Amino acid sequence: MNYRHAFHAGNHADVLKHVVLLALCDALTSKPAPCFALDTHAGRGLYRLDGEAAQKTGEAQDGIARLIAETPRQPAIRRYLAAVQACREQHGAHSYPGSPWLLAHALREQDRIALCELHPEEAQVLGSHFEADPRMAVHARDGYAAIKALLPAKHGAQKFARGLVLIDPPYEAQLDEFDFALAALREGLARWPQGMFALWYPIKQRRSLHTFYRKAAGLSAKSSLLLELLVRPDDSPLRMNGSGLLLLNAPWQFDGLMQPALAAMAGALGETGASARVEWLKAPL
Ligand code: SAM
Repeated sequence: MNYRHAFHAGNHADVLKHVVLLALCDALTSKPAPCFALDTHAGRGLYRLDGEAAQKTGEAQDGIARLIAETPRQPAIRRYLAAVQACREQHGAHSYPGSPWLLAHALREQDRIALCELHPEEAQVLGSHFEADPRMAVHARDGYAAIKALLPAKHGAQKFARGLVLIDPPYEAQLDEFDFALAALREGLARWPQGMFALWYPIKQRRSLHTFYRKAAGLSAKSSLLLELLVRPDDSPLRMNGSGLLLLNAPWQFDGLMQPALAAMAGALGETGASARVEWLKAPL
């Protein structure tokens, strides 16, 4: 396990993932019923963009820093920038929120959040951030296995009808992470068919993803939506040219909400040839 998210925090992929994550949380909390969120690959929860790791790659400069400089007026992006600002007011001007911090920020007192992180040091730091928050449970364990253990979502006698599973693996070269993730989605849907599931994936060349798209379209979800941001043309297999989220059981009219947000991100973060795509693999009936 060599991956450390501190090198990549706040890059264009985090911007896409975190804008969408907040919009999903807002859809969930638009109804009073309590909801459950499972973050299977949580990372350390909070990052420092002036730290050695982030400074070494400079990736946040082309991500969150550029978005702040451009300040698109699109509502989903303003919502995200306000959350980053809230994080900075609490933790300092160079901080950047990970998905656990954003879940804690966007969800309510009656909601519950489970965070899994396999790397012992990252899990320890993650636990230290949220030990005083009774809504959060940190598990130093394999997030894929946690889908079996923690779904269908319940807290004591309480069962959750609504909620979200975020699967955000590192895609380290030696693992076939796409297959692991698809198997996890299959398992998760079998256990919690009404849950929303969001899987993040990197894009080098889109054409190499066709098998993944075909398998994703065959999952038993009611709907299946792709949200993709390419910050440059996907003409090189050697680097990450963009990323996407596969979203199963998306909220009502989520495609229309996300289309202008992704277009604004492509405009603010993209080089020549950047593009955004919001596309149903399986449209809701
Ligand atoms: N979701 C985080 C965010 O948006 O702030 C970033 C997560 S990072 C991309 C992936 C994390 O997954 C790393 O911290 C890595 O240590 C952890 N990890 C790798 N394999 C794992 C597994 N099987 N189960 C749980 N965590 C894992």
